[in-house]
Formats: sequence, C-alpha cells, structure tokens
Amino acid sequence: MHQAAPWHNVRLMSKKPPHQADDTRVTTLGRDPHANFGVVNAPVYHASTILYPNYEDLRDHKYPFSPYGRMGTPGTNTLEVALAELEGAHGCRLCPSGLNAVVTSLLSVAGSGEHVLMADNVYEPIRMAADSVLKRMGLSITYFDPCDPLEAIAAQFTATTKAVFAESPGSLTFEVMDIPALADLAHDRDAVLVVDNTWGTPLHFKAFQHGADISVHACTKYVSGHSDVMLGAINYSKALAPRVEKTFRSLGLCAAPDDVYLALRGLRTMAVRLERHAESAVFLAHWLTKQPGVARVLNPMLPGDPGHKIWARDFLGGNGLFGVELVPGNDKQLAAFFNSFELFGLGFSWGGFESLAVPGHWRSARTVSKTLPQGPLVRLHVGLENVEDLRRDLEKALTAYNAAAND
Ligand SMILES: *Cc1c(COP(=O)(O)O)cnc(C)c1O
Repeated sequence: MHQAAPWHNVRLMSKKPPHQADDTRVTTLGRDPHANFGVVNAPVYHASTILYPNYEDLRDHKYPFSPYGRMGTPGTNTLEVALAELEGAHGCRLCPSGLNAVVTSLLSVAGSGEHVLMADNVYEPIRMAADSVLKRMGLSITYFDPCDPLEAIAAQFTATTKAVFAESPGSLTFEVMDIPALADLAHDRDAVLVVDNTWGTPLHFKAFQHGADISVHACTKYVSGHSDVMLGAINYSKALAPRVEKTFRSLGLCAAPDDVYLALRGLRTMAVRLERHAESAVFLAHWLTKQPGVARVLNPMLPGDPGHKIWARDFLGGNGLFGVELVPGNDKQLAAFFNSFELFGLGFSWGGFESLAVPGHWRSARTVSKTLPQGPLVRLHVGLENVEDLRRDLEKALTAYNAAAND
C-alpha cells in the first residue's frame, strides 16, 4: 500500500549504514540502481509536468519527489539528499548558482528592518548583492573584520541582528574563523549563523556539527569538479527548514537537470580528487614560501599560517585553492608572470581538474579589514596535473616576474 508522502520532506533512499566512512558515502549516497533497470547512475529526467494515474494519487502526491518540475526531478532530489546527509544537514535545496544560494539563504533569515553582520572577506559578488538588492529590501548590513577578536565582533550586534554571515577560509586572503565560537555568539544573541562552506565542502567541514544553521555551497567548484557546471546548494537545519523552503519556493528557483546530473557524477569522485588537490597544493605552497619573489603564502594548510591551528582543529581535509603574495612589483612584472604559464590557465572560478591563476583584487572588496597583503596577490588553484610539471610552471612565472623588475 502506498503511503502519502509530504514530498518536500522526503529523504530519498537514505538507507546507508551510518558506520560507513565519508569517502564511501560520496560513492553511494542517493544511488538506487535497481530502481533504474540496474543502471549505476540515476538517469536525467527532464520535466515540467508530472502525470498521475488517477485523482487519488494526484491528491496524495504518489511519487516520492516533487509534483512539478520547478521543485526538481528525481536527480535533483538525489543530489539534495546526498549533500544534506554528507554534511549532516536536515535538508538541502539546489539553486542555479552559488551566488543565488547565498542570496536566497540571507533572504530566508532576515527581512526589512533587520540587520545582518557580514564578514569582510566574503566572496565579492555577495557584497554587491548585500549592498544593493538586500539593502533595497530594507535589510541593513555591516561588515566585520574576520581577524577581530570575538568581543569586537560581539560589539557590532544590534537589537535587530538576525544573522551572521561568514566564509572560512575567506575569499582571496584565506583567513580561518573560529566558527563554533561565532555560532555560540550568534545564538546567544538570538541570531543565526550562515556560512559559505564552498572551500570546506560538505566532506571536509561539517558546518552543522560546528554550530552553523545554514551552510551554502557553490557546487560549481569541487562538487562538480570539471569546470562545466553552475550550481549552488543550501544545506539547512531543521529549525530553519520552513523559512528556507518557503523562500526557495517563492522565488521560483530551479536547478537544471543536466547540471544536477553532472554535479552528482562529480560528487562520486570528490573525495579522491580533493585528496590529490590538497597534496599537490601543500607541496607547492611549501615550496613557494622559499622562492625569491614570494612575500607570503596564504594557505591555512601550512603549519606557519595564522589560520592553521583552527583549520587543523575543525577541518577534515584541504584542497587546491590558496593565495600567494608577491614582493611589490609593477603591472609589467605581473604581465610577465601570468603570461609565462603553460599549465596554469588564466580564468575565474576554481574546483575543476585543471590549474588556474588569477590576480586577487582584494582592495576593492574590503572595507574594514585591518591586516591585508601589501604586494600583488595571486590566487592559485592547484589542479590534478603532475605536481612537478606545476612546480616548473610556477618557477618559470616567478623567474619572469623577478626579471621584469629590471626591464
Ligand atoms: C564561486 C563562489 C561562490 C559563487 O558561486 P557561483 O556558482 O559562481 O555563483 C560563492 N562563494 C564562494 C566562496 C565562491 O568561491
């Protein structure tokens, strides 16, 4: 007999024993081959209309997923369940981009006349949304220095503060925040903590165990992993489920089924990819600290980094993304540096299999941070190529940077 299911609460195929390790779970979560003729990967369903055989089934939502394509097809539901389970969230919603997932989260937890405290080192386009659309909706936003002691952040709460938004490690400069302490602070003031956990991934930073109420992911990055998908995810706690669900559905958001399929396929190899990204990144970061032309390496995976202690305490692994501060130089030197790469591609985003390098323009993106790099900043994404090939590529670029100083 079929039990009527409230489709938005369905936790599809959640039968994997909890004793399995996460690198097993990324390969199994949400898969049910024998529901699909034995096919290993769940097929892509393109749908707006979902048909029901009769009135009773329509009335009772016969199928264990949404009754309309906008709220997702079975693939959407599978990835949502996998991401929620992996991070220990109550539920998950997929959005068309990571940026959209952040903005939707903030609209879920604050409204007109209410205040949001935002870390100064969040992904820059989020500031654009905060300072334009969110302000126009009547939210007030103030920025805090992620390196400030907790008491200084506490002093920035107001009577209307509803949410704290943080990203750790932060974009471009990679400061690590004490998320459990920040969560306690927010909860003491009846506010919620929303984190952008794109760097951490649902595998390596368990945001809910560390007190977050919402954890947002740009699945565009490591979850997809192949530089061909735009996708975001909102993982949320049980307490916030009604607000996130209502906001998500009211905005008519919808992730494309083909993109969801690619992200789900990416998820299956994410554990092993991250391991290789991190191993190569640590090797190169360490090597870079000793090279002429390098002022500082900004990477919490390195023992000497100011964020290392908290990173080692709270994170289960790392990845390939970090920053390099060069010794002061001019634009001609930067051109020589970037133009000499063979393997590091020049382009935005990260998390794919390939190495990337971009200048880190943090100056325009910060308003309250007190400790910032002086020299030019480069953001590297270390891909899955042979690490010695990558080292040679970086060596060539640094040689060109240093030589151009005398031109
Ligand atoms: C890329 C990124 C985003 C935005 O994701 P998109 O899918 O590109 O919209 C948000 N936060 C962080 C930390 C990112 O790196």
